[in-house]
Amino acid sequence: MYQTNLRATHQQLIGISQIFPGNKDPETPVLNRFPVPVVARYIRINPQTWFENGTICLRAEVLGCPVPDPNNIYYWDDRPVTSDKLDFRHHDYKEMRKLMKKVNEACPNITRIYSIGKSYRGLKMYVMEISDNPGQHEVGEPEFRYVAGMHGNEALGRELLINLMEYLCHEFQQGNPRVVRLVTKTRIHLLFSMNPDGYETAYKLGSELSGWAMGRWTYEGFDLNHNFADLNTGLWDAEDNDLVPHKFPNHYLPIPEYYTFPNATVAPETWAVINWMQRYPFVLSANMHGGELVVTYPFDMTRTYWKAQELTPTADDLMFRWLATVYATTNLAMLDDDRRLCHYDDFMREGNIINGANWHTVAGSR
Ligand SMILES: [Zn+2]
Repeated sequence: MYQTNLRATHQQLIGISQIFPGNKDPETPVLNRFPVPVVARYIRINPQTWFENGTICLRAEVLGCPVPDPNNIYYWDDRPVTSDKLDFRHHDYKEMRKLMKKVNEACPNITRIYSIGKSYRGLKMYVMEISDNPGQHEVGEPEFRYVAGMHGNEALGRELLINLMEYLCHEFQQGNPRVVRLVTKTRIHLLFSMNPDGYETAYKLGSELSGWAMGRWTYEGFDLNHNFADLNTGLWDAEDNDLVPHKFPNHYLPIPEYYTFPNATVAPETWAVINWMQRYPFVLSANMHGGELVVTYPFDMTRTYWKAQELTPTADDLMFRWLATVYATTNLAMLDDDRRLCHYDDFMREGNIINGANWHTVAGSR
């Protein structure tokens, strides 16, 4: 079976998904037609086994334009081009805040700056919201968040999100239809620095003088990627006791009681993010780390407690694998066959994606 996701640019973007039957033997050619004639600008093909029974299928995405007049192939709208005027500099806390303000002034109708709390040393954890009608949840508009810098010394994600903020503002003003669609149909929240204290520690010392872990942890020494509540164990216990989904719904997992005790070791930065997640109905999020060129997807923790690695899929595994693949097949650095490894693991064979728990188990990650 070939599944094709067809996206055509007309006055507005439309996405059509269609399954095309393939052949059952290697000899017989099969012809399938798109529902509308399309001139492709980009074609992306991912051979994957997506179906649970292991049927081989091929997902092809065609980003193209419907032919306005089949007899006049030269009649096109101008393709929206990116004219990046991005600020490719390192941004410390003050510079970051200054740039957020600048973008907010440049795009006041689609941006809003807010803070979700403070770090241990009192730095505000700023978020840039990008959406039409900022400050409002609109029914039917999915809320998405990107978080960077939970390990304070991993600066790449912070700069990527800062660039993304500038890009979205600039391209929206230019009328880039893809960006206009993102801004009007979703609500995007960017947290550039979840661990601002750690960032400042690493930034002030500089890479020459600090070890790999300098600034990774918070000022108090928390690794924020292990500091969230373990929600998996409760879910799996409930599953083992046949309580899911009626007695124990699996779409909103309660925080375990011990986690809320006064003597629980939870960083203020972690609580800020938990409260943030409880205030906004996020449907999807991504977390940027530095160090490896790979996209991981949930779960992050193995179900067999003594195993350091184990494939541990969620109920939405196909969706997560697809999302991870979309990122990994669009990132130019990941597509480069000749790229050198970041550390020791080579994720190329798996298409640069991996189930988090199948890489290494992490309890309380985010
Ligand atoms: Zn990290």
